[in-house]
Amino acid sequence: MDVMGLFSGLTQGFSAYKAAVETLDEAKISAATNELTVQLAQVGAHVFAMHEKATQAADREATALARIRDLEEQVRELEKRNRDFSRYDLVEDYPGTFTLRIKEVARNGEPLHYLCPSCRDNKAVKSILQFQDSKKRLAGCPACKTQYRFQDEPARKPRPPLTTVGSMRR
Ligand SMILES: [Zn+2]
Repeated sequence: MDVMGLFSGLTQGFSAYKAAVETLDEAKISAATNELTVQLAQVGAHVFAMHEKATQAADREATALARIRDLEEQVRELEKRNRDFSRYDLVEDYPGTFTLRIKEVARNGEPLHYLCPSCRDNKAVKSILQFQDSKKRLAGCPACKTQYRFQDEPARKPRPPLTTVGSMRR
């Protein structure tokens, strides 16, 4: 039953109750009282249900708003990350080794550095390559452990010539 139906039922119940009271007939008063009690209980249950629905709707709205805020935050974060990645160029500073190098114009006082392209492409992670020696020949990605060569290893000193068989003899 809708709210209007419930309230008109209640109004009728009250009228019937008042009419019954005026008759001073206990049986009628008792019946009207019962009827009114039933109607009040129905209205009470309905109001309670409406309150429940309103509470649930408010909860859903709050959840939706929180989700929207969360998504907006994620979008801002992605935009920020993309802006940061756009400061780098894909370069081949050593034949066959591709890395992301900070653009000169975008350095803003930062030292020259390189990012791991696999971490950017696969995980959208900014991982600065760390050189493994002061000569900057080889650098490693701290996140995925890929190694990137930047320079050749120094040429090894030629081995001393093998001792001739003759000199081994005593
Ligand atoms: Zn990496």
